[in-house]
Amino acid sequence: MTTLLTNAWILTLDDALTEHNPGWIQIDGTTITALGSGTPPSITGAEVVDCGGDVVMPGMVNTHCHMGMSVFRGLAEDVDDRLYRYILPLERKFVTAEMVRIGTTLSALELIQGGVTTVADMYYFETEVAEVCDTAGLRAIVGQTLADFDPPDHKDFDEGFARVDELVDRYRDHPLVTPSIAPHAPYSTGLKTMERIAQWSAYHPGVPVQMHLAESTLEVNWAQENHGKSTVAVTRDAGLLKPNLIAAHCLQLDDADITMMSEHQVCVATNPRSNGKAGRGIAPVEKMRNAGLPVGIGSDGAMSGNTLDLFSQFAPVSMFAKLLAGSRKPLPAVDVIRMATIEGARVLSLNLKTGSLETGKQADLIRISLAAPRLHPIYDPYSMLVFATMPDDVTDSMVAGRWLMRDRQVTTLDSGEALADANQIARQFKAEMARIDRL
Ligand SMILES: [Zn+2]
Repeated sequence: MTTLLTNAWILTLDDALTEHNPGWIQIDGTTITALGSGTPPSITGAEVVDCGGDVVMPGMVNTHCHMGMSVFRGLAEDVDDRLYRYILPLERKFVTAEMVRIGTTLSALELIQGGVTTVADMYYFETEVAEVCDTAGLRAIVGQTLADFDPPDHKDFDEGFARVDELVDRYRDHPLVTPSIAPHAPYSTGLKTMERIAQWSAYHPGVPVQMHLAESTLEVNWAQENHGKSTVAVTRDAGLLKPNLIAAHCLQLDDADITMMSEHQVCVATNPRSNGKAGRGIAPVEKMRNAGLPVGIGSDGAMSGNTLDLFSQFAPVSMFAKLLAGSRKPLPAVDVIRMATIEGARVLSLNLKTGSLETGKQADLIRISLAAPRLHPIYDPYSMLVFATMPDDVTDSMVAGRWLMRDRQVTTLDSGEALADANQIARQFKAEMARIDRL
């Protein structure tokens, strides 16, 4: 099956930032087989899509998400101790395989509609997440979380490892879904278990490791009090600072930490909206990138950052860098879009498959309508994408040559059913919160 997209403003995000305008892309099966400017080839039997001058760019890469948590979106928004007062009790009582399936389905719809084609997830009951991503057609890194705070799907680390092994056994050869192991954070895993994970990881080099790292002062204090060093140094001592580590947040870092992370080729997922809303701090994105660390953009869970598309992250990620430096110059718009596409793919070790539009790569792409007055005039398409484009401007989405959305309609999932299921769970949460408030 050949698909030919024509009459498009193509942003390839290749190394030279090549644009084709007007341009065309030929897709055979799962793969981009040719692209260029000017007159498209004539191919008998091809599905030809005239893009009417719209932007076509690589599908975006959300490098840190908790898809199952969308059912917590907006819950107890401004309560300072909401994690211990509501979230953890609700997770213990209600987080089941079924709830994770419902939350993940809602998230998959939002991701597709927001122009995300690849997502890195870590939560519980991750075989459910893997199944939903498979059905949705999303490219995904799916990480089973391991934690010591009585999480909902394992009573101890042995059970947690058994869940990881099951996930890896089922999805090791899947074309879109990559299984992953996800220690929650250094303080909620502990040095001994991090060492065990590092050993496990050495036997499973193709399985990415995801972890929250240097996210809070609580974590920094834990590392100092228990080990007399930084949380990054503790992670290094455990053997977990390594090239396939996807470290989320990375807020509380000094220069020595950044050097250490650079020496071990760690990859970073920055989550500006989540961090800003929690008052946690600003990640030193420019410093990390200048030290050679690839930095992708993540939404975090909807409980923390509310939305899962990357457009909502662009203004804060850009503004935080400019505010830190007191200058308009840092983190230009084109770099933000690089982080959302090819650099994000690099963070997930998927950059040979996705993240840019190039011959031989997987056909993971989105089409963005230029109909909105808000987008015009366009001096710089990257500035337009970072500061003016909204998720609703994305009209079509394709992963590995398969359309996941046509003209805003997601073709792989039932949106009505997903909303009804999520709102049913929210009613249970509200009742339980009222019960907690009466205690
Ligand atoms: Zn997170």
